[in-house]
Amino acid sequence: MTMYLQNLLQYCARNSLIVEGKICHAQIIRGGLWIDTLTSNMLINMYCKCGLLEPARQVFDKMPERSLVSWNTMIGAYTQNGKSDEALTLFVEMEREQSPMNEFTLSSVLCACAAKSAIFECKQLHAFAIKKAIDSNVYVGTALLDVYSKCNFMREASWVFESLEEKSDVTWSSMIAGYVRNELYEEALRLYHRGQVVGLEQNKFTLSSIFSACAGLGALNEGNQVHAILFKAGFGANIYVASSLIDMYAKCGAITEAYAVFSDQESKNIVSWNAMISGFSKHGRCLEAMVLFEKMQQTGLFPNEVTYVSVLSACGHMGLVEEGRKYFDVMVKTHNIPQNVLHYSCLVDILGRAGLVQDAYDVIKTMPFEATAAMWGSLLASCRNFRNPELAEIAAKHLFELEPNNAGNHVLLSNIYAANKNWKKVAESRLLLKDSEAIKDRGKSWIEIKGKVHSFMVGEREHPQIAEIYFKLDRLMEEMEKLDYKVEIAHDLHDVDESKKMLLLRHHSEKLAFAFGIISLPPGAPVRIMKNLRICGDCHNFMKFASIITRREIIVRDLNRFHHFSNGKCSCGDFW
Ligand code: ZN
Ligand code: ZN
Repeated sequence: MTMYLQNLLQYCARNSLIVEGKICHAQIIRGGLWIDTLTSNMLINMYCKCGLLEPARQVFDKMPERSLVSWNTMIGAYTQNGKSDEALTLFVEMEREQSPMNEFTLSSVLCACAAKSAIFECKQLHAFAIKKAIDSNVYVGTALLDVYSKCNFMREASWVFESLEEKSDVTWSSMIAGYVRNELYEEALRLYHRGQVVGLEQNKFTLSSIFSACAGLGALNEGNQVHAILFKAGFGANIYVASSLIDMYAKCGAITEAYAVFSDQESKNIVSWNAMISGFSKHGRCLEAMVLFEKMQQTGLFPNEVTYVSVLSACGHMGLVEEGRKYFDVMVKTHNIPQNVLHYSCLVDILGRAGLVQDAYDVIKTMPFEATAAMWGSLLASCRNFRNPELAEIAAKHLFELEPNNAGNHVLLSNIYAANKNWKKVAESRLLLKDSEAIKDRGKSWIEIKGKVHSFMVGEREHPQIAEIYFKLDRLMEEMEKLDYKVEIAHDLHDVDESKKMLLLRHHSEKLAFAFGIISLPPGAPVRIMKNLRICGDCHNFMKFASIITRREIIVRDLNRFHHFSNGKCSCGDFW
């Protein structure tokens, strides 16, 4: 009888048969079998697998004797069902009763900590694991480093990782994913290479993390190589890996390759479509973005909030005010997606770029969110383009509050005053900039050459080939000056005298990265540069001229979008 019921319970658990499971439970009570620990454990397991935590807990509470398995099943079930607090409370109870525990108990509780970023509890559990000498267990260690990395404690995570003698594939991929989550892309790649040396098995989690790392760094060569590995490993058909591959190519400026992967993908989900639509939109290929948006709906998929961010920003790029407003309404009315702050930000951008500065300001004033720095920044930029110093002042004041360290805002405002010949205000705002703590320039650009990422700061001195780079840059500038290129001082953020300004502008990080690219890349190869801030007007102009004299395609990814320069023109249409 007992064996029979136990087999039935296991069958019910496997197939989530709730009704049948409850009948078994009734039989067990009738037969008085609930005092048997093994049978009760199976009952708990059955209820947990069916997602019924309360009856599971009732069985658990009534048990005269709980073995380790009962605790583990119950804690594990709470964790898996997102009930972190219950899992932690039960663990504390377990400790109070001084029941023995093992590595599975601890790794379950740690997973509960990860879900709610409970760093305090995690540290306590870490200490506890050390005390019980199970901290070097691979399950416990992996769970520990996962919690640390989810709580942004990367130093601790890496410490745990290094101290583990035995590391599983999950250990490696958790650590790599942790680096990526914390935007430590170079560390992620370094660890991945280390893993390759020790024969780490490629899995879809690691590969998709590595594509994200390459996307973050704009490391196209590296991404290409991992793509080849993916091809060999045979995970290419996996929808999530393929989507991260599309995203990687798009973010590395290789939109054609992104589209090739996208077209080859047999089954596409919303993530794949979103990656491609957003790729086109950020590359200024807005028509393609819109076409895909329509196509996606024809295949029967509904757009989500991510899709609408791309579509609205494409409208902004193309100056489509009416369409933009229409989509902004349609998303709620037809697709029942409430607008979030990013959608409002796009709307402000659409209106501002089209010169409807007052309308943009009205949106900011009436929307149900606090305005972000990006919104005020967009409004301020529109005020510059459409000469509206009054609104500019309002936008700038908000920006000064939100971003006290951004010198660009001060300079933008003072340039607006200058354009309106209000010299008194120009002098005032310059003075304000001098007094403020605003940092002058944290511009950093990087370029990948032969699989290695080289980064440059403004006025870089450290790079081993720096003399050669400056020499090349000077030659390029000389040639450009023949084509009537002039360094525009107004774009510079440095509060220094004119001659020095000239020098600093000449040596903006993206220009240095570009010169290095010309020295290092084969003739005719496109130059791909990443920049952490918005590209300045002068560098934008420089790249246009550079695309003429070097006859190369130049792709600059700045904070917001891609600029594809060729034959003296940029894909952004000088709106960025
Ligand atoms: Zn610049
Ligand atoms: Zn551009």
